[in-house]
Amino acid sequence: MLHGNVPRYDPITHGPHPDAVLHGKLSKEVNTPLYDVLDSQKSCEYLTEHFHASNHSYSTQALPVNTLLDTLLRPNANTEIGELKSRLRWERNPAKRVDHIVLGSAAESGGQWTEEPISANWDIGTLSYAEMFTLPGYSFPEHYKRIHKKQLPDLIRPTRRDVASYYAAYPKAVGISSALYCNTNAQKITRNSQGFTIRVQRRKSGEPFVIVCRHLVLATGIFTFTIPPPPIFLPLLQKPPQIPNLRSDALPILVVGSGFTAADVILSQNPGRKIIHIYKWMPSRPSPLKGCHPQAYPEYAQIYRQMKLATLPASARGAATPPLQQECSRDWSANYEGFPNAQVITVSADGQIKILTADDEVIERSVSELKYCAGRKGSLGYLSAELRKEVGVVDAAWVSADTMRRRVESDLEVASNVFVVGSLTGDSLVRYGLGSCVYAAGRIVRDFERDRSAIEAAGGVQGGIDRGVGIVVNKNDKTWGGCTIC
Ligand SMILES: Cc1cc2nc3c(=O)[nH]c(=O)nc-3n(C[C@H](O)[C@H](O)[C@H](O)COP(=O)(O)OP(=O)(O)OC[C@H]3O[C@@H](n4cnc5c(N)ncnc54)[C@H](O)[C@@H]3O)c2cc1C
Repeated sequence: MLHGNVPRYDPITHGPHPDAVLHGKLSKEVNTPLYDVLDSQKSCEYLTEHFHASNHSYSTQALPVNTLLDTLLRPNANTEIGELKSRLRWERNPAKRVDHIVLGSAAESGGQWTEEPISANWDIGTLSYAEMFTLPGYSFPEHYKRIHKKQLPDLIRPTRRDVASYYAAYPKAVGISSALYCNTNAQKITRNSQGFTIRVQRRKSGEPFVIVCRHLVLATGIFTFTIPPPPIFLPLLQKPPQIPNLRSDALPILVVGSGFTAADVILSQNPGRKIIHIYKWMPSRPSPLKGCHPQAYPEYAQIYRQMKLATLPASARGAATPPLQQECSRDWSANYEGFPNAQVITVSADGQIKILTADDEVIERSVSELKYCAGRKGSLGYLSAELRKEVGVVDAAWVSADTMRRRVESDLEVASNVFVVGSLTGDSLVRYGLGSCVYAAGRIVRDFERDRSAIEAAGGVQGGIDRGVGIVVNKNDKTWGGCTIC
């Protein structure tokens, strides 16, 4: 959008949106850029207020603006099979282009998708179905066809590898790669009289540079940092036990954690490898795997079942519900040991561990590897303390889905000219990422247009500057309206 790609409601190409009420509200606005339609919180409320009573299955959890853009990009996403028919029309309008730079620490675009997953297995199926990853202008099915030379099958969960490849290819495919600076870390962002100063470090060379800009869009997510294992596990991390003539995966692996990452690690193991799994089990705060339907997510449902079985006394396990369709050739009863609410009490360098079970029993096992999957979090530590205070993160720099939620519910502009998008808003799925971006882009484009009109009215000069393109307010004092690299 900051490249001048303008979204509008499109009831023509594939017909009106299937939600007749939404179509009624938007049909008066077909010529208005959608971000101008969403100009204020009020207009978003007006467009989405019927969602809760609608028989279209709209999310009640996501922010209304994110639900709105999701349904315009993917109408009937939960019920329709095949490529979804977007009701958004995108037009390139150079007059709406705003100079911008996208910084990201990952080696390629795609955020956490392109970074090393803890499971180290790129061929595990994603949680979402393929259509949910599509961004405007170059769809996931188009990319799949390009790399696999065949149509994307209906109703598939693609591999993490394919999703990472899609997001890495996306900027070039839609012509926006000129703004992208991968392998860069943003640090120490402070507010200055014009906007913001950002110190940036290139990850490979360590070479620093500085950016000044008018607006700041925070898109650093909530999954950047993995929670490290406590010191007791140090012997397993320092030097994995080496046993002569034994393959490293011949001994059991210890997996700690109850979420999708732990499940992915378990699924990535060779089916014959023994798995020792320690996890929290609290009926009041169930594992996210509980929500996985056995038909849609058989492998995650299988792991949840094993975790649940391990909470029962050994005598009751046989009588429990019949097994689900087996995940590959894994013999769960022989190769999986679950320890709900257990604690590791000693770890020695040769891989011997002692586990204190929930029944106060001490059990010894020998392991060759640890995967500690107790969660991830984001950080706003790259903002100065003053700026963090402005955006409402006072106590610590760490952020999770809840941290910014209250704030963004009232406005995605969390401080003057500072916007929050993506999973930082608390809506972590890709399908709910576009709404916050449309809102932020609209506010930025409008500010830019207002400044340009003011400059033109005052007889100012407009032109290109160095590598960034901004507006020279006054040629001599070098005050830029856009952002530029110094
Ligand atoms: C294991 C796992 C599986 C998932 N599966 C799915 C799925 O199937 N479907 C789905 O829709 N969602 C899934 N998600 C949710 C995920 O939130 C979204 O897919 C998406 O990645 C969110 O995008 P984002 O841009 O908000 O954040 P991210 O993708 O996390 O990107 C943020 C990027 O900012 C970088 N960064 C942080 N600080 C700085 C800094 N100071 N300077 C420069 N760069 C910085 C981070 O390193 C990261 O690369 C999954 C998440 C995880 C952890």
